Amino acid sequence: CKESVWEGKGMMYLTVSEVSKTYANETVATLALNNLSMQVEKGEFVAIVGHSGSGKTTLFNMVAGLDNADKGHIFFDGVDLTTLDEDARAAYRLNKIGIIYQFFNLLPMLNGWDNISLPCRLAGRFIDDKKIQQIASALGIKDKLNSLPSQMSGGEQQRIAVARALYNECELLLADEPTGNLDQQTAHDLIELLLQLNQSRKLTIILITHDMSVAEKASRIITIKDGYIINDQRRAIL
Ligand code: ADP
Repeated sequence: CKESVWEGKGMMYLTVSEVSKTYANETVATLALNNLSMQVEKGEFVAIVGHSGSGKTTLFNMVAGLDNADKGHIFFDGVDLTTLDEDARAAYRLNKIGIIYQFFNLLPMLNGWDNISLPCRLAGRFIDDKKIQQIASALGIKDKLNSLPSQMSGGEQQRIAVARALYNECELLLADEPTGNLDQQTAHDLIELLLQLNQSRKLTIILITHDMSVAEKASRIITIKDGYIINDQRRAIL
């Protein structure tokens, strides 16, 4: 990877600095992120809200190292992601980031156990059976480890996805509409689980949602409109 441009003093855990992104085709250019800046401290639980098309997923993809900014920098734990090559960004995603999505993103032909351990197996790492059992027990999905995703409810599939992130010891959990495909009660249970992980493990969480009842559980709500932040509100977790 290329050398980081960061000098390293007093930097927040995550800093998004003046990031812009335009999607262009032959006829139209869409400014998805417009000079957006934000900082997140270690252990924060941040909800990002905004109407459809406001730029939430684009920002998410930048922080996840899935896409490149046209302009600006993204520092995570002292490393400027925008200076990393593709291999280094893949390593960042594997080692630092856990991602959960609206549609769970589990591999349908693998059971719960294999879905949880997949990132580590792909990385050629030792698989700690006891640790998988412990995480699955803590998340209430121990009896689903031998089941295929098609044999699980939405809430159970999402817990497998959370277990996959935890097993990999992610430092930052990114969640893109994780409750979007769950009923109200299951959504509530999932957010309670994320809150508990945030508080007990000091796991930093950034959650995208359009559901204000979900966002209001977070300790901070950032509102995006037209690719930039229009409101940033910190609040006590209830
Ligand atoms: P949100 O997640 O808030 O719904 P997005 O980040 O997905 O918003 O999109 C922001 C803007 O960028 C929207 O106008 C959207 O249509 C546009 N956009 C997103 N992805 C692409 C793409 N791959 N190609 C062209 N335009 C895109």
